[in-house]
Amino acid sequence: MADGKVAGEFKEIKNMKRILTGDRPTSDSFHLGNYVGSLANRVKLQDEYDAFILIADLHALTTHFDKTEDLEKNIRGLMLGYLSVGLDPKKVTFVLQSKVPEVLELAYFLGTLTPRAVLERQPALKEKLDQGEQDTFALFQYPVLMAADILLPKANLVPVGKDQKAHVEFARDVAIKFNNLYGEVFPLPESLIGDVPTLPGTDGQGKMSKSLNNAIFLTDSAEEVEKKVMSMYTDPKRIHPTDPGTVEGNPVFVYLDAFGTDADKPQTTNYKLLYSKGQVGDIEVKKYLVKILNNFLDPIRQRRDKLEKEPELVDRILKEGTAKARTEAQKTLAEVKKAMKLDYFV
Ligand code: ATP
Ligand code: MG
Repeated sequence: MADGKVAGEFKEIKNMKRILTGDRPTSDSFHLGNYVGSLANRVKLQDEYDAFILIADLHALTTHFDKTEDLEKNIRGLMLGYLSVGLDPKKVTFVLQSKVPEVLELAYFLGTLTPRAVLERQPALKEKLDQGEQDTFALFQYPVLMAADILLPKANLVPVGKDQKAHVEFARDVAIKFNNLYGEVFPLPESLIGDVPTLPGTDGQGKMSKSLNNAIFLTDSAEEVEKKVMSMYTDPKRIHPTDPGTVEGNPVFVYLDAFGTDADKPQTTNYKLLYSKGQVGDIEVKKYLVKILNNFLDPIRQRRDKLEKEPELVDRILKEGTAKARTEAQKTLAEVKKAMKLDYFV
């Protein structure tokens, strides 16, 4: 019986550990850094865990409050990105953050347990301010909202890039504080960092970012990838192809290691050797990288092309996931209020 089967499946899911992770809709596509930092782990773990994936539009507002007209398009773009890298909507719950307003209520409660000094010390804030972002209250309290994102679905594991690790630790600390004060409500979340903790940008900057104009996107065409790679930062000290070059930390080689298949490994190793001896030019290695990246991106592009023809399906997946997440959120919030003895006058 269909009903019985659904109930059975749900029961099974209930015993699974939960993942919460998300992305800011600050662009309509993911980049290679998002992939190796977090998306790849999500795809890998979707069978073992009950995964909630959050499109964090409220977090996007911290830096993009003046670009709200792009959000709807970006949200759809990220949905296409998830599905095209192989996240399966039968296994994963996709959630639109602003449509689960319970998260703001929980964030408020968590804020009452958060010393101001802890937020002042967060490294991500300094970085954003150095990048010229405005010093708003929303940006300041980013970790508190992110802790609420994680704790609301009672997540156990948070697959993120290294830049987000401190935020997950903050969520864990505030969960410990809450549990100690009001009673055990939240499991303690842990971060899971991807194979490449921080993928550098094409400009050699520490981190590839959607908002830094140094990203290769999963939606870039083969020609765009070629253009970006051919003008990529490599080893600034190397002027001639005969100069010995630095392999370590050179983004070209970092990308080769991250996106080459096992079959590519011997050739990559060979290029590293030649490069360090000054026996191969940047152009040849870059051409090789273009091929590797396009091989990696081709199946993703093909899946996206197909999905783009089914916008209603993609919207429905997000709406249904959000509705499910909201039900879960309301359950947690009721528990939170009971634990806090705020369940009066209801
Ligand atoms: P923005 O510049 O708007 O903050 P972003 O590129 O940092 O965008 P986010 O949506 O903030 O992307 O992050 C989504 C996920 O990708 C997070 O788990 C984050 O840690 C991870 N991530 C982002 N950039 C990188 C990177 N360069 N290397 C590894 N992981 C990354
Ligand atoms: Mg970011």
